[in-house]
Amino acid sequence: MDFSMKRRTLLKVIVLGDGGVGKTSLMNQYVYNKFNPLYKATIGADFVTKELQIDDKLVTLQIWDTAGQERFQSLGSAFYRGADCCVLVFDVNIQRSFEMLSNWHEEFLKQADPSNPESFPFVVIGNKIDLDCRMVPEEKARDWCASRGNIPYFETSAKEGYNVDEAFLCVAKTAVASE
Ligand code: GDP
Ligand code: MG
Repeated sequence: MDFSMKRRTLLKVIVLGDGGVGKTSLMNQYVYNKFNPLYKATIGADFVTKELQIDDKLVTLQIWDTAGQERFQSLGSAFYRGADCCVLVFDVNIQRSFEMLSNWHEEFLKQADPSNPESFPFVVIGNKIDLDCRMVPEEKARDWCASRGNIPYFETSAKEGYNVDEAFLCVAKTAVASE
């Protein structure tokens, strides 16, 4: 038996949020260190993977992308089931995308139906902080997260790669911790 073999954990991560907030860009920045300024609406659902080490655990993050405009139902609840973490993304420059967080949060819990909804790991990302037209104050977003069981909150720029690794590291850690 090879005792140097480490246990590898596969974690399913679902990324949700309105269309155009930067879900696909955040994933591309995190996994490929690339940013594509051209907007191409995501069709259906797809995933990318990233391997990382958390303490002595090898972790494979399987990050599922979705098209925000799509009806949740069309993805089917099988898509959500078995998720280990849900990332909710909004654009700090678009008020409406922030207001929609509650809907995405609720809809995820309804579809995924986790055994412990109160303690299910979410991470919230306020993206596009490189732009100069912020509409959602950081304080507002933090309050929203605090009122839902202290969800960790990150402000990022997928364009500049700012805080993206940190956000997904938190995703991995909270998912591992809740296993
Ligand atoms: P999705 O629909 O949520 O997957 O959003 P996309 O990742 O496709 O991004 C929508 C548009 O916003 C694209 O034109 C991206 O290039 C742009 N975008 C995404 N993230 C950022 C960011 O952090 N800063 C800026 N300035 N633009 C971004
Ligand atoms: Mg997309």
